[in-house]
Amino acid sequence: MTMNPPVETEALFAGDRASAILATARAMVEDLHLGAVQRWKAANPGGMAIGYMPVYAPRPLFEAIGCLPVSILGGGDQIDIIRGDSYYQSYICHIPRSTIEMGLGGHLNCLDGMVFPSLCDVIRNLGGMWKMLFPERWSSYLDLPQNFALHLGGKFYASELTRIAKELEARGAKPLTAENLRIALKNENRRREAIAVLDDLRRREPWRLPASDAYLLVRAGGMLPAVEHAEMLEEFASAVMQRQARPFDNVRVVLVGSFCEQPPFDLIRTLEKAGCDIIEDDLMLGLRYIEHALDAESADPLETLAHGFIKFGAATASRYIGEEEKGAALIARVKATQADGVVFAAASFCDPALLDQPMLEAALDRAKIPFTAFKFAENTGQFQVIREQAGAFSDSVKLWF
Ligand code: SF4
Repeated sequence: MTMNPPVETEALFAGDRASAILATARAMVEDLHLGAVQRWKAANPGGMAIGYMPVYAPRPLFEAIGCLPVSILGGGDQIDIIRGDSYYQSYICHIPRSTIEMGLGGHLNCLDGMVFPSLCDVIRNLGGMWKMLFPERWSSYLDLPQNFALHLGGKFYASELTRIAKELEARGAKPLTAENLRIALKNENRRREAIAVLDDLRRREPWRLPASDAYLLVRAGGMLPAVEHAEMLEEFASAVMQRQARPFDNVRVVLVGSFCEQPPFDLIRTLEKAGCDIIEDDLMLGLRYIEHALDAESADPLETLAHGFIKFGAATASRYIGEEEKGAALIARVKATQADGVVFAAASFCDPALLDQPMLEAALDRAKIPFTAFKFAENTGQFQVIREQAGAFSDSVKLWF
């Protein structure tokens, strides 16, 4: 095995089919004008594109009524914030500023509406600002249930889904039918399985599929219909197996805390270059949030979708669960993936992630699982300190654990 190798898969495998798919995914992710969404609208006249803020949104519901759900993740390190800053105080995360900047700058003009799921106060406030800034465009706050009794939270959530479908139908979307929702559930199941295959591959052979590559592939799907995304991932999974890859002696880590505002792509690469194989993470959590296939033959697919959120939702900071359970879920992930340690990477001022972190750290301490922690902003430009910290963590795990 090689110690601390450079992670330069682009150069190593330039020209193969997997690299071409990766290049497509990266171009989609970096296109702040959402060209993929514009192409979908051109190919589907009358179809509506509905943006949604992190983390989770009921994507099959939108697809069932002829809408394209589009994952909106801010502007990353590609946009200068000028007007966005004037809407928020300084001690708040970055993603709402860049989302406002994108909206005012016309980057999101191809969207016919926006959904703001109940993730935190920041997203709630952003939803209110959006209504004032763009009153002519449809937008909605989506109150996700925190009561997980099926006859209470499940019933409430099904009524929310019906409300959204009706509001969009009034704006030109197709009426919601059970048959179309079953098809959408089936398509989402296929996408889910394709992502699971990729995740399994990077756990087994992270040198063949680094987390940074997997991230691009999954994130690109946030602006694709489920079937198209599944096809892309399936083709990639087949193509990447053609590569001649050799194992490296890195440490295996679980990355926690980046479920909403996403770190810059180069920060993920920096962790890899520092000797960390990220074999599990909560980046792009929305596309993995429902941790089980949903019954696409159900007699009541709307109830199936609503109950799926209740029964199979991921244990994350934006979902109420008890302290013991939170730590237990993380430790179970570490053990199931045979990780050596945990890296906490939360967006600066992200209340959900940073309020959860002490409880998770305490659970890791009790289980004697090593961890390190740092904060980032989506436009962080300097990675040297993080590289040194991650490198020291990687070395210490190899030497002492
Ligand atoms: S980064 Fe954290 S605080 Fe900011 S909008 Fe997302 S969940 Fe809320």
